[in-house]
Amino acid sequence: MYKVIISNNEIGYIENIEEFKTKINTDLYSEEEKEFMAYYTINVEPEYKTVFVDKKTNSDETEILNKIKENSTITYLAYEITLNNEEKAYVSTIEEAEQIVEEMKQEIENEDVEMTLGIVQKYTEDLDSLKLSEKEEVEQNINTEIEKAVEIKESSINGVVLATKPVKETYISSRYGDTVDRNSGHKGLDIAAPTGTTIVACGDGTIKYAGWYYGYGNLIIIDHGNGVETYYGHCSKLYVSKGDTVSAGDKIGAVGATGDATGSHLHLEIRLNGVYINPQKYLYK
Ligand SMILES: [Zn+2]
Repeated sequence: MYKVIISNNEIGYIENIEEFKTKINTDLYSEEEKEFMAYYTINVEPEYKTVFVDKKTNSDETEILNKIKENSTITYLAYEITLNNEEKAYVSTIEEAEQIVEEMKQEIENEDVEMTLGIVQKYTEDLDSLKLSEKEEVEQNINTEIEKAVEIKESSINGVVLATKPVKETYISSRYGDTVDRNSGHKGLDIAAPTGTTIVACGDGTIKYAGWYYGYGNLIIIDHGNGVETYYGHCSKLYVSKGDTVSAGDKIGAVGATGDATGSHLHLEIRLNGVYINPQKYLYK
């Protein structure tokens, strides 16, 4: 028989080395354990020594196999779904991954948004750390991202996102195009709010102007780039100065009734290359 030695420990006896080596290859892991396995590595190489033994000595194959298994590591293969080159989810089979990407690509095309999906092979010894997901769950998540992208697309003007309401709406006191005193056609949107109500930037940009400007009273102009500007008129307070950089949602001023204003309100304008745009196309829809 052969004595099997693992890491200088005598583990037991086997009858046939070749048969045993085959068993290591085929029987070490069950079919269940092999499901997501890419490969396994045996970290200790068993040594075999020819020995003469008593005929009552039994083979210890099962025990030895278990010992080898204890000293081995499994590497699993999972499939990472990437969205815009960032990790999104992991699934266990390439079929699932391909189905998800194919179905979601169709959805992205239908909604006409800029998003890219990909599949990356991921080898790991710790399958649990990857948190495998079900196909439905992944698709639901990606659909949420698509919806967000659609929302951003719909609130974009010439590539500039104007998605933040400058004041929490109380009520719209005058709409774009309304006939107002001494004017035919209102060039902005009037949002009534108490004096002192915080005004925030509709989108990212740079302060182009912050000061008194004729009928506008205290006026803030934000340059958002790409020819897009927003105007905030009749402010009671200005919290920004020319040249300041602001992000969507940053406090820029307070509602008031300065300049030509009969009541406290924000006069909001959006201009694209100097042309007036109805703010309600993007905000307070
Ligand atoms: Zn107005």
